[in-house]
Amino acid sequence: MHEEVLQNSRRIVLKIGSALLTDEKSGEVRQDWLETLADDIRALKDKDIVIVSSGAIALGRKAMDIAWTDAPSSIPLEKKQAAAAIGQVTLSRAYEHAFKNTALILLTPRDTENRRAHLNARATINALLAQGIIPIINENDTVSTDEIRFGDNDRLAARVAQMIGADLLIQLSTTDGLYSGNPDEDADAKHIPVVDTLDDAIWAMAGAAPKGLSTGGMKSKLGAARIAMSAGIHMIVSRGTLDHPLSQMQKATLFKAPESPASARKKWIRAHVKPAGSFILDDGAAHALQSGKSLLPAGVTDIEGTFERGDAVSLKNNGMVLGLGLTSYSSEESQKIIGCKSADIAQRLGYSRGDTLIHRDDLSVY
Ligand code: GLU
Repeated sequence: MHEEVLQNSRRIVLKIGSALLTDEKSGEVRQDWLETLADDIRALKDKDIVIVSSGAIALGRKAMDIAWTDAPSSIPLEKKQAAAAIGQVTLSRAYEHAFKNTALILLTPRDTENRRAHLNARATINALLAQGIIPIINENDTVSTDEIRFGDNDRLAARVAQMIGADLLIQLSTTDGLYSGNPDEDADAKHIPVVDTLDDAIWAMAGAAPKGLSTGGMKSKLGAARIAMSAGIHMIVSRGTLDHPLSQMQKATLFKAPESPASARKKWIRAHVKPAGSFILDDGAAHALQSGKSLLPAGVTDIEGTFERGDAVSLKNNGMVLGLGLTSYSSEESQKIIGCKSADIAQRLGYSRGDTLIHRDDLSVY
């Protein structure tokens, strides 16, 4: 079943934990293993793959004289941040060697939660994917302070999956998923292959992070599952320790999303967002919108209110509100381009943020 979910997904975020990437004894990258993962990813045809990778702090430990036995939570923040700055270079080099065409993106929670930064990060990732380049994402550990950190990449990966409209998030870790108890201590602990609902019984099964390099643990995996499932994204937790961790995915836990990413996103737009202004649409645009198309500047006759890129704007036609969307252009920019062809946007503004005023993925039509 996990294999089927993988094959049916078009856009996948793959999160790789520190304990998989680094050899605890030598403190170096498990490069041979990483090459087998790269082979697996190359074998997945016609899929967009984005990697969220930990490992920067682990790989920078040696240079900062941090012992392997020190748990991540016990290391002073500035030492951890310095280690991350060092280790990120090693990490990027390892990925570039294994995958060839890679790009590095460092994010903070602000970037995934603020709508403007979110649109920019998403546009950059889309541009990279369209070019056949694999984005490698990590938290920007050197600038994140305790209050504004994800702290673990499980949740960062879920936010990224939500941001780019992925349909699957795979968490490769040192465990093969969720168990009813701690399998190291309890011989009766049962493996749970599928989770449909994150109820109290499921939360009670999850323990804290294991000893060693990991910061996550099953609790933070469940936190990630909550974000993913509510965004309509399935999540798989699978053991990735052996070579070819994707093509030989065996025992794993699938956290099943109850609805599609598109309908979850529309619901989110409707529930969480207050409109800052309106676009007044001509009849043609109103019709196009209702048949699932994006909103183009040509179909807008007027603008109400003042808003920024990324704000919510309601869509009106003949005095009726048809829906709501997140705009790609501010009110000031929109004033200059409404009524014109998309091809003329760059000429009118001196730049373009894309052909659509509101992309159909950012629209919720009533
Ligand atoms: N951003 C941290 C690093 O690259 C990892 C956080 C985590 O372990 O999830 O070292």
